[in-house]
Amino acid sequence: MRTEFLPFHLPDIDDAEINSVEQILRSGWLTTGPKVREFEKSFAKFVGARHAIAVNSCTAALHLALDAIGIKEGDEVIVPTLTFAATAEVVFYFRATPVLVDCCPKTMNIDPERIERAITPRTRAIIPVHFAGQPCQMDAIRDIARHHKLAVIEDAAHSLPASYRGEMVGTIGDITCFSFYATKTITTGEGGMIATNNDEYAERMRIMSLHGISKDAWMRYTAEGSWRYDILFPGYKYNLTDIAAALGVEQLKKCYRFYETRKRMAQTFDQAFADMDALRIPFVDEAVQHAWHLYVIQLNLDRLTITRDRFIEELKRANIGTSVHFIPLHLHPFYRDTLRYDARDFPCATQIFERIISLPLYTRMSSDDQQDVIHAVKETIRSHQR
Ligand SMILES: *Cc1c(COP(=O)(O)O)cnc(C)c1O
Repeated sequence: MRTEFLPFHLPDIDDAEINSVEQILRSGWLTTGPKVREFEKSFAKFVGARHAIAVNSCTAALHLALDAIGIKEGDEVIVPTLTFAATAEVVFYFRATPVLVDCCPKTMNIDPERIERAITPRTRAIIPVHFAGQPCQMDAIRDIARHHKLAVIEDAAHSLPASYRGEMVGTIGDITCFSFYATKTITTGEGGMIATNNDEYAERMRIMSLHGISKDAWMRYTAEGSWRYDILFPGYKYNLTDIAAALGVEQLKKCYRFYETRKRMAQTFDQAFADMDALRIPFVDEAVQHAWHLYVIQLNLDRLTITRDRFIEELKRANIGTSVHFIPLHLHPFYRDTLRYDARDFPCATQIFERIISLPLYTRMSSDDQQDVIHAVKETIRSHQR
């Protein structure tokens, strides 16, 4: 057994990031500036989108996206129940209502058939979440959206880099929101990016991300800028700093290398667990490139004498950090009590939640670390097999 605790996640930062941040700190320009513009340009090129707008979180990105498509009080927005708080909470910012939808049992992504059934005359948008890094069934979702005249805003917090039938995530829906939170596939500490091919949405989101001030508000303190500005709308304070962008530019350069490593590690897990009845390895749709942000196993509880919670405790005792993605929104007090959701309305997510564990999967893990994870999982199964 390993003697040192293996954290669930560690960011992969080296001298390239440290030197780049140091340069910014010495430059005299800390907030939004040339480095943010450089990050936006390289990101737009990376995913192949016309516009990339850097913001200080994916939550901010989702908020600006809903603002850009014109969400109003009383509107409904379809979101999966198996997601993080951010995906649905932004809908409340508009006094609109998130309508939760159950997942597909295999991919754990939002179920297009159930989206169709959740549509009402008030529905304005769908926010698919590419769970764990695996893109949703975007053909079906786009068809539904086109048919009902709905916007598609993708929560791509897990899915950089990922693609669906050869189309890069970031170019598929109307607007795509990425996260650079500390645990995501690339990080700026806190940060996010909005990608879109729509010029109008892009302009609105850029203006609203910095106080609703007319174009290039950040330049007002530069030699080229002017002190004069116009407030066009009551906006928000969602701009990214050059300090964070310095991290982002360097991380983005390594994005594919990080991806290749995670992909290889996922294959190693797949092989190690392939013949185990007590758990199910992640299912991957042939049509996608999975970003492998998370490696989520499903326990077969019929084959075990312990619960998922106990399983996690056993792994912790073996010095392996894990997590659970996610506690479905409908099981949280706020959603249960305010939107009056019942666990039986979401049979798939409710059942899956009892079985899922996210194993550590990140580039700073050595192959010995990964073997320790595999060993601990197998040992836990062996000692609690039914
Ligand atoms: C992390 C995460 C977010 C929020 O990202 P932030 O950058 O922390 O705002 C949104 N959606 C999902 C699915 C996430 O995992």
